[in-house]
Order: sequence, then C-alpha cells, then structure tokens
Amino acid sequence: TKITIAIDGYSSTGKSTVAKQLAQKLGYVYVDTGAMYRAVTLFMMRKLFVSATTLNSEAIVRHLPFISVKFVFNPKKGFGEIYLNGENVEKEIRYMEVSEQVSKVASIPEVRKLLVQQQKEMGKDKGVVMDGRDIGTVVFPNAELKLFMTASTETRAQRRYDELIQRGDKVSFEEVLKNVKERDYLDTTRDDSPLIMAKDALEIDNSNLTLEEQFGRILKIAED
Ligand code: C5P
Repeated sequence: TKITIAIDGYSSTGKSTVAKQLAQKLGYVYVDTGAMYRAVTLFMMRKLFVSATTLNSEAIVRHLPFISVKFVFNPKKGFGEIYLNGENVEKEIRYMEVSEQVSKVASIPEVRKLLVQQQKEMGKDKGVVMDGRDIGTVVFPNAELKLFMTASTETRAQRRYDELIQRGDKVSFEEVLKNVKERDYLDTTRDDSPLIMAKDALEIDNSNLTLEEQFGRILKIAED
C-alpha cells in the first residue's frame, strides 16, 4: 500500500535528491514545495520588484489570486517541472535573486495558507514524496514516514554552490553561504509554521554520508 513520505529540513540538506530517488524507486509522485514558494516569489519580483527593503506583504497578498503553480512531469528528467502561469520556470526559480527573497515571501501567512492547501490536494491520494520545511508538521502531520535532514552549514553551502556553478551561474561561495544562513534564520524564526522537526520524524545527518549510503538507509526504512 502506498504511503505519504514527508521530508523536511534546512536549506540544501539534499532533501530533493533523496525525495526524487525515493519517488523514482517507489513509483511515487514527487512534489518540491520549495519550488512553489520560489515560483510565487518570482512572480512577485516580476510584478512588484520585491527587494530586501521594499517587501510589501499587502501587495503580495493582493496578487495571489493571479498565480497558478503547477508541476508537469518531464519524462526525460524523471520528475515534474514547475510552471508559473503556464511558463516553465524550473531554471529561473533557482537564481540567487530569487533565493534572496523567497524566505521573506514564504513568511507571509496568506502565501503559506494558499500553498499548503494546494499541497494537501496534491498529496491526497498517497504515493507521494513531498519535501519542504513544514510537510511533517503542517501539510501532512499524519504522514506514515517523516524524515528530517540535517548537515553542517558549510557542507550545505558547498553543495548549493557546486550545483549553481555547474549550471553556469555566477556566484561566490561567500554569497551562497550567507544566503543559506539567512534562510535558516528566517525559516526557523517566522511566526507562521516555523521550521521545526516533527516529534515523530527521523533525523538524518548526512554531512558524512555519500548519496548512495544515505539512499540505502532511507530506502530500507521506507520499505519496512
Ligand atoms: O527548498 P528550497 O530551498 O527550494 O525552499 C526555498 C525557500 O522556500 C525556503 O528557504 C523557505 O523559506 C521556503 N519554504 C517554506 N516552506 C516549504 C518549502 C520552502 O517556507 N514547505
């Protein structure tokens, strides 16, 4: 029987890598909720020029009804790519500019309410692996399997940096490290559903695990 798998944790802990592997192996649907917050942020940046000093939550809330965020499965990649009002924004949502704004947009209760509602809908039939910050606590508090991923800040920043460089983005390690720390701070201190580990989640520190080791462990747990 199919279950719901919730994967939470800090930025760049490898949640999406594990989630994608699990979904592929088990034939489940993978939902990257961070991509949804990023897509909403991208929309607001285009419409409202959101910047560190001009975040206007009222205007953001007013624009929410004009956003549609969808995942469309790409068989070549093996996972769903994110579409914002019909446009594939998979690449754009990972730009540093978006990373720098997303945690502020994600702290707005109305934004969370809307996306959480959509996430619940996407996962209502089980057989889903969802990753984010509040999946095991808010979106699917009854998920059969909850993982909480951790790794040292430096390890995480290094991973994210390597990823961005590989894509051809021009960023410095310091910039990425600063962003990871800033998002950790905002994600754990916001009023509305801050990032915390669900009581019944299994903590996985992967600082010193290779991807294969990590996946082997998790798959064993998922199959039990
Ligand atoms: O997972 P990712 O790093 O792409 O998420 C980007 C940001 O979106 C996070 O730093 C966090 O602020 C926000 N987020 C959230 N709740 C989720 C997923 C992401 O607040 N479930």
